[in-house]
Amino acid sequence: MENCLFCRIGANQVPSKIVYEDERIFAFEDIHPQAPTHILICPRKHLASLTDAAGEDAALLGHLLLAAAQMARERNLLAGYRTLFNSGAGAGQSVFHLHLHLLGGRSFRWPPG
Ligand code: 5GP
Ligand code: ZN
Repeated sequence: MENCLFCRIGANQVPSKIVYEDERIFAFEDIHPQAPTHILICPRKHLASLTDAAGEDAALLGHLLLAAAQMARERNLLAGYRTLFNSGAGAGQSVFHLHLHLLGGRSFRWPPG
């Protein structure tokens, strides 16, 4: 997906602060952080949103979530951190390459806005 911003970030064609990567996923700091820690975790496989994931992607989605938990442990966020997917424009999705937000380092309210 040569026109996809996050595919380009994963291929190092657009600069970003990568904090983790392996053969299936990559993670980088959000350019407009909404918390002291705000990391976006993406599959290398281009999926536009969670809605586009299928059964064959189950292990990949699990890997994203486990990577988020590992980063939360490493960054001492265990007092409370948030992991979320915005799926669809109505939920605030603005980049249509699936990404898991990891937010931490402050307190959070419920329900989210
Ligand atoms: P969404 O709104 O789709 O759930 O999240 C997209 C996120 O990507 C936003 O939090 C936004 O700040 C971030 N973002 C958009 N463009 C860039 C970019 O070029 N670099 C980085 N690091 N983050 C970006
Ligand atoms: Zn993409």
